[in-house]
Amino acid sequence: MLGILWPFLNGVPVNQYADTLLVNHVNVISMTSKEILKDQQVLIANGKILSIQAASNNPKSDLYQVVDAQGKFMIPGFHEMHFHWRNPQGGIERDLNLLLANGVTTVRNMAEYDWQDQVGIREKINSGEILGPRYFTTGPYLNSSMLQSEEEAREMVQSNVEKGYDFLKIADNLPENIYQGLLEEAEKEGLSVIGHAQRAMGLDYSLRMKSIEHVEEFVYLFGETQRNDENFMTSVVEEIKTSGITIVPTLKVFERIIHYLNDSEFKKLGEADYAKYMLSGDRNYWLSDENPYRKDLKGKVLYGKDAELLLSEWLEWMKGFTLQLSDAGVPLMIGSDTFGLVVPGFSVHEEMELLQDLGMEPIEILKAATVSPARYLGTQALEGTISPGKNANLVLLNSNPLEDIRATQEISAVILNGRLFDRAALDSLLGDVLEINALSDLNKN
Ligand SMILES: [Zn+2]
Repeated sequence: MLGILWPFLNGVPVNQYADTLLVNHVNVISMTSKEILKDQQVLIANGKILSIQAASNNPKSDLYQVVDAQGKFMIPGFHEMHFHWRNPQGGIERDLNLLLANGVTTVRNMAEYDWQDQVGIREKINSGEILGPRYFTTGPYLNSSMLQSEEEAREMVQSNVEKGYDFLKIADNLPENIYQGLLEEAEKEGLSVIGHAQRAMGLDYSLRMKSIEHVEEFVYLFGETQRNDENFMTSVVEEIKTSGITIVPTLKVFERIIHYLNDSEFKKLGEADYAKYMLSGDRNYWLSDENPYRKDLKGKVLYGKDAELLLSEWLEWMKGFTLQLSDAGVPLMIGSDTFGLVVPGFSVHEEMELLQDLGMEPIEILKAATVSPARYLGTQALEGTISPGKNANLVLLNSNPLEDIRATQEISAVILNGRLFDRAALDSLLGDVLEINALSDLNKN
């Protein structure tokens, strides 16, 4: 009797059964521990995870849509924490499709350009008008030229609050009084300030933000002597850890810039799977000698060194520093910067693979894609782990990502707000992108 009644006791309205999903025989990586819960059934209704228990051999398939996930691994949906929408052609739907098809169920957009309405995009996703991952956004980049006084800094915070942005992003060095005034006002309003480091002031100043974007910033914060001084760097990591700040490394985009300068690596870039999802104009531009990095840096001397060599040395340092941060327990988040041949969705997986290559454990990388960003966004009651009561934003993988993070690249299904996108549905999202690309090519000509 109870077996039949329990869905009612769990508050599922009868007419919702069509939306009720049972993922059966699945291995659950809940991110509440390192252990894999083997052969489970995960019941999902109204966009939420209702229960997780041992799999059933005879699920009541007349009550639920049943997905047989034998041999698959379920993890929480990925967070892309450093996204940019770079090209209006084809609309935001292109990027949202690419993100979703790659298992991204939450995205943080990191700038608003003058042709964009980022709050509008967030509202359209929330209202269901367009399909996309849960969306957070900053306002426009804040540059020092925009603020002449503390008063203007305070007004800037007020206008950001009024417009409804989730974050205020600083992309430039600010004078100390203006920076501090901005932070004070933002704290009063509960608006998080994030961004690039304050390179002209000590580390302590940058650590007053909620997160620092790009490990590259630490190259500019410290001189070469300091970067190679083990004792100095140990104390830096300690200071960062103590501050509680979160860091978004964005290493792949930096590596890609180096590859733009290297002929043999450059040739390979066009062959990658992601390239075909780019708008043809973008693809041709970035794969040509017009590529701005190739044009301006290839064969050039920077700080007395060949640019490719110098940037490669910086990247090696950045990788070592990222591992040091991770080992020290500094919260990291996955972000890719989606720029040039760093293509939305696919780049999340490339970033994770790079983090594995530099020595991070898969579980630490998954934390940076799930639990840590949920905590950072203040959504930990609903996101970040696979637990009853949380949002059903989930990814099903064909193999175990704890053994090799590249398993995240073989997605069997994505569940967004309880709605199942099986492989065919994900492929159709990707197919839509190809169609949008072809159409926007036609409109351009
Ligand atoms: Zn950015």
